[in-house]
Amino acid sequence: MRGSIPDATPRQAHKVHTGAPPAPSLSDDIQFVKGVGPTAARLLAKLGLHTVYDVLRHIPRRYEDRTNFRHVRDLKPGEAAVIRGRVVNVETTATRRSGMEITRVTVDDGTGRAQLVFFRQPYLQKQFAALAREGTPISVYGIAKIDLYHGVELERAEWEELGAGDSLGTNRIVPIYPATEGIRQARIRRIVYNVLQSHGNLVTDAVPSTLRAKMGLPPAREALRDIHFPATFEALKKARHALVFEEFLVLQTGLVRQRAMHAHEGGGIMFHVDQHRLESQLREVLPFELTNAQKKAIADIAEDMSSGRAMNRLVQGDVGSGKTVVALAAMLMAVENGYQVALMAPTEILAQQHAIVLRRYLEPLSINVALATGSERAGTRRLTRDRIAGGESPIVVGTHALIQEDVRFHNLGLVIIDEQHRFGVLQRQALHKKGQHPHVLVMTATPIPRTLTLTLYGDLDTSIINELPPGRKPIKTYWKPKKEARQVYEGVRTLLQKGRQAYVVCPLVEESEKLQARAAVQLAEHIQKDVLPEFRVGLLHGQLSAVEKDDVMRRFKAHELDVLVATTVIEVGIDVPNASVMVIEDAERFGLAQLHQLRGRVGRGEHSSYCILLSDAANDDARARMQVMVDTCDGFRIAEEDLRLRGPGEFFGTRQSGLPELFIGDLVRDIAIMEEARRVAMRLIEEDPNLERPEHAGLREALKQSRRGFELVHVS
Ligand code: ADP
Ligand code: MG
Repeated sequence: MRGSIPDATPRQAHKVHTGAPPAPSLSDDIQFVKGVGPTAARLLAKLGLHTVYDVLRHIPRRYEDRTNFRHVRDLKPGEAAVIRGRVVNVETTATRRSGMEITRVTVDDGTGRAQLVFFRQPYLQKQFAALAREGTPISVYGIAKIDLYHGVELERAEWEELGAGDSLGTNRIVPIYPATEGIRQARIRRIVYNVLQSHGNLVTDAVPSTLRAKMGLPPAREALRDIHFPATFEALKKARHALVFEEFLVLQTGLVRQRAMHAHEGGGIMFHVDQHRLESQLREVLPFELTNAQKKAIADIAEDMSSGRAMNRLVQGDVGSGKTVVALAAMLMAVENGYQVALMAPTEILAQQHAIVLRRYLEPLSINVALATGSERAGTRRLTRDRIAGGESPIVVGTHALIQEDVRFHNLGLVIIDEQHRFGVLQRQALHKKGQHPHVLVMTATPIPRTLTLTLYGDLDTSIINELPPGRKPIKTYWKPKKEARQVYEGVRTLLQKGRQAYVVCPLVEESEKLQARAAVQLAEHIQKDVLPEFRVGLLHGQLSAVEKDDVMRRFKAHELDVLVATTVIEVGIDVPNASVMVIEDAERFGLAQLHQLRGRVGRGEHSSYCILLSDAANDDARARMQVMVDTCDGFRIAEEDLRLRGPGEFFGTRQSGLPELFIGDLVRDIAIMEEARRVAMRLIEEDPNLERPEHAGLREALKQSRRGFELVHVS
């Protein structure tokens, strides 16, 4: 009988109403479930559990195997064990000093006697006395302690009558839930059990039944029952697999469907791409040969844009892999076809830098590049807007100001979004709507582990630039304790004396932009006054105005400054080849992906480059992260490690994660299941694009329910 929870017919969840009780539903308030009153409901709400459905999806954090009965005689101190026996004595006394009631229960299992001790639960006296009188067998779980005076004692005991219904806390594989103060595991377990009894049968399947049969997956209601109260670890594994697959299938079906819809809608603008002409244009403006990876990405883009379907492509390339040139090629294709291009960057500095670089490339071809950020003067702003609307600016570079109302395009044919992870799906869509189904190219310098790509950008096709331009020297990375800061800065001095420039990255302050800025100001003063007084030190942080930032960057680029003290503002895209050393203060405060981004600011010129992580990394995790940075410059490896060490929520920084909330799937552990779900979703949408077949009704419904999950992407 262990583990068998009988399939229950739905019971009335609402007992307070008069007349016919409403039909039970998964959205029923948990407060009206058997065993839950207002107090428990409040505590459950703290765990985010409001409805019956929430409770069903409250997945155990882990499980304890309490299936093995032990003999009292054999118990060893410290052992977690389950025994089976009868109550032979119970006594409640009050301590003399505080009057605290202690109930002492003696259980005999035929091989010996064990004591259970309960504090401040005097009502137990009556319960155990009855059990003793009737000789009812009970099972007890606890941690064995051997005491000279009392003999064997089971601490933190959980007990159940045997034969009085399903065992939940002993005599089985027991679920341990994420808990909150004031509510015991046993209570949560009982509530989940009751909910399964009363509402478990209402759970429907998103995975079509034929597919389930083919894959050997149990129905969702069975899987949910087993995830809470598995009969065996085998059943648990199967249940988990089924639920994860279902969750991922819904996610992937949504993404694949979105992707299919993009491609379908209005059928995209068909560009004619003259390979030959494109190559000669690029050769004319670029002082170097394209890498093979760049060529491949450009070919992917050319194919997309000449297919007649709207392109939706993500280009992932490590820092310095040369994505700008790929964007340039895409721009040329659009402009040759008489269309406008919008390039959106996440910060003003980056937008400006893109404009400068692109103007340099495009001048020889007489192609005009307009810049639209939020901070131009009204006059300039109007003029720029007019030129964009009139179609005189074929290429428009800007920040999110580009998606504001007053920017209108004449004929927008291509949208390029740089450093995508800073933008949510919503912003992508807003820019998209500025044209008639323009092609969309998304570029990111954050290498993204495959599960995350599938989760976040599963609606996009992907090109990966996994090759750096030739001649790049790897950045030598060192990890030094803070007490060696002096020596580190001596090394920096030597490089500065040779004419190089340096970045000093200020410790991350997460509380506020203001505090972060203040920390940067102090560090800059310290460096200028006490550390490198003979050099020119500049300062860059998020609280400076666009004009000030621009000015600092310009001076640093022009080598009017030797050292730039900065916050993560310099994380993305800034390109100063003469800067060959970076010191990152309190490096352990940053995520790996972020450190990698920061480090990518050096190593962009012909000089040997260095990155020094100053850190007294205090725990294993921090030490592991520092070591990864020292060991490798491979962005994809770093990204995988970052995901593994910090988990997906932290991967992009919580503020801009844009990740859907998963109730059971794990983006690190379950990559294989995610890929399978992806394949299945693609096939499914191909066969039934609108999920109209009856067997897809459950999936369609689940998709509708979950849609909020990935449309409400946080806008940073
Ligand atoms: P990211 O991918 O980080 O945006 P960029 O496009 O800024 O990289 O390119 C980084 C640097 O590499 C730039 O200075 C650029 O001129 C240079 N670069 C790009 N492609 C090549 C190439 N094929 N050969 C040599 N240098 C290149
Ligand atoms: Mg870039």
